[in-house]
Amino acid sequence: MTETPWQTCDGTVCLIAGDCRECGHSFFPPQLHGCEYCGASGAALKPRSVPATGTVIAAVTVHTHPVHPTPFVVADIAVDSHPLVIQATVRQMPDVGDRVIGREVDSDSGPEIAFDLFEGTDR
Ligand SMILES: [Zn+2]
Repeated sequence: MTETPWQTCDGTVCLIAGDCRECGHSFFPPQLHGCEYCGASGAALKPRSVPATGTVIAAVTVHTHPVHPTPFVVADIAVDSHPLVIQATVRQMPDVGDRVIGREVDSDSGPEIAFDLFEGTDR
């Protein structure tokens, strides 16, 4: 298991997702405790690298948070190449249906992943 649930790949960022060999369930971030869907042991789980690109299905602006500076935007993103929806920070308020791409960014607590709108998104 990697230290962060993403890695650089082909000049972009890939998410480290997990797949269950027993039932095919996909999840993020990766873990080796057991399948949350069918209950298979951690031995049945395997990590998989998937491109950090997807489509926004919902987004909100967070105005209060006990740790992170506000405001910031969090979105539900349907990952392109995997049957997976993740929640992640987006650096500009997207519309539902906008295409986004993940990038590694520096923060006060170290590197983290944040999503940007695809270049050419009409605003
Ligand atoms: Zn399973």
